[in-house]
Amino acid sequence: EKLYRINDWGNGYFHISETGEVEVRLKDKSPQSSISLLSIAKGLQERGLKLPVLLRFSNILDDRIQHINESFLHAIQDAGYQGTYRGVYPIKVNQQQQVVEEICKYGQQYHHGLETGSKAELIIALAHIDDPEAYIICNGYKDEEYIDLALKGLQLGINTVLVVEMPGEVGIILQRSRALGIKPNIGLRMKPSTMASGHWTDSGGDRSVFGLNTTQVIQVVDRLRKENMLDCLKLLHYHLGSQIPNIHDIRVGATEAARFYAGLVQEGAPMGLLDIGGGLAIDYDGSHSNSPNSRNYTTKEYCDDVVEEIMTICKEEKISHPTIISESGRALVSYYSVLLMNILDTNVFWDGKNGEEVVYDQMLMPALENLLYVRTMLNEKNAQECLNDLNYYREEIRNKFLYGKVNMRERAAAEHVYWSIVAEIQQKYGDIHAAEIQKLEHQLSDIYYGNFSLFQSLPDVWAIDQLFPIMPIHRLETKPDRKAVLSDITCDSEGKIDKFITAKGVSDTLALHTPKEDEDYILGVFLVGAYQETLGDLHNLLGDTNVVSITYEDGNFSLHNELEGDTVADVLSYVEYEPKRLETMIRTKAEKAVQEGRITVQERRRIISAYTAGLRGYTYYETDQEE
Ligand code: PLP
Repeated sequence: EKLYRINDWGNGYFHISETGEVEVRLKDKSPQSSISLLSIAKGLQERGLKLPVLLRFSNILDDRIQHINESFLHAIQDAGYQGTYRGVYPIKVNQQQQVVEEICKYGQQYHHGLETGSKAELIIALAHIDDPEAYIICNGYKDEEYIDLALKGLQLGINTVLVVEMPGEVGIILQRSRALGIKPNIGLRMKPSTMASGHWTDSGGDRSVFGLNTTQVIQVVDRLRKENMLDCLKLLHYHLGSQIPNIHDIRVGATEAARFYAGLVQEGAPMGLLDIGGGLAIDYDGSHSNSPNSRNYTTKEYCDDVVEEIMTICKEEKISHPTIISESGRALVSYYSVLLMNILDTNVFWDGKNGEEVVYDQMLMPALENLLYVRTMLNEKNAQECLNDLNYYREEIRNKFLYGKVNMRERAAAEHVYWSIVAEIQQKYGDIHAAEIQKLEHQLSDIYYGNFSLFQSLPDVWAIDQLFPIMPIHRLETKPDRKAVLSDITCDSEGKIDKFITAKGVSDTLALHTPKEDEDYILGVFLVGAYQETLGDLHNLLGDTNVVSITYEDGNFSLHNELEGDTVADVLSYVEYEPKRLETMIRTKAEKAVQEGRITVQERRRIISAYTAGLRGYTYYETDQEE
């Protein structure tokens, strides 16, 4: 538990069982509503669904929707706030059909709506929202078609709001609304001057690429008034950025927006809706701090503070309380998905003796004596000095090798002695206050090769060094015996993970067990429900993983919505190959080989069937090949 700090980031959804397996808790605290991830993985493998697989837990999504809605409703009640709350889920955070469908299903009782950032997303939203009390907030760049769709949504009784992101959009909205004879609900997106800290916070500040500055807000109001359309202005929107770690920034942002909102009411717009955007953060590293992968507040505090700030300003400005809309995405879907991968191989960097036999024949080599002398001098006080000397003598030997004064065997012996002493320093004094010595653990660590693609399944780890909790999902009753970094199976040296959430906070190695010969060693990557699935790409043509959903209902777990990941043929067609044509090319080539007497017709048949099986296969490493 302490090694991986599951209780700090698991948020009550994940824990370790007495038998040393990670369990996901899907309903209440009763043991019956928890299920072991290993048992799910085994069940899937028996059904022929291979790792890597992405698991989605519907009950977690249900719980997240409840949690956010109830937190706002309580904050509203406790403060005596006169308005209400409506959430909208930003489709871009995870657009997969099953995700949007489940959000609409579980969100129905709260009139939870959707936020769209493009035409395609609006097309999804219009089909999924039936509730006249839910909103579809239309953000993003809008052409006539986008605007027409939103206006026609109003005719269907769906509450669409067209949010003006750029001054030029007003003209098109007015023109299309006149042409179709449908009055729009218009919103304005303001540029907050508040710049929040964090990874994804470029949405705030003067140079933000989205929204209207104060002058532009006034220009739009004047234009609407002039065109007799000010009565359509209903909503003010702002978005400080995603994953805002510090509650201070959220409060300041809400205050600034509430003042703008009041300004618009005073200009004579009907208003009624204040949309605070996304930004509610997830505590990925479990540190409960204002570091970029965490947050220094709870959902309750977030809701209480937003309600309080808006209420205070409304009182001062003597205006009625708006309906608060929030566009939380990450906070809704992060916990929902877990990626499971099997370890395919390990590269043990230093096992305490590597190559011992090489060494002892060569003990008389003078340079080796220098290295061995360092070992005799080693103590806590001079550990860094010894490391410096070791590096010096090793370099000396490498230079002599370049000039032919040390042969390959002698060099191998020296390297062995070097690493054995470095390992000794790390073991005995690895925790002392010296950065170079602390780094030795990483330098001596193993490489574990996981059956996954970082670029496909965890793109934010590659792009912005995001941290996700990673740990073995079984064997946790025994202490891990290795320290490792994780590599994926793309042929890209960037496809590795060497930042992990551990007992020390964040470390550059992860404690893992030595895999057993006859059993898969399975790791879970947690909290991957937001942004990762569609941002992922096809590097090395590794495609979508298998996906399966798990639901707990009336005391039973069920697997459903099993989606097979991409086959090789699928990914080839994404990059414009025609699998049929490739097959024909191989058939022709094999026929030529038969004609030239290089293979028999039977061999030709086997070659073709291996090729077509390859096309049908999973893009990831397959261990148990089907006949
Ligand atoms: N709303 C808008 C306009 C966004 O750009 C984003 C994402 O950055 C969100 C909502 C979702 O933010 P989050 O996932 O932090 O809730």
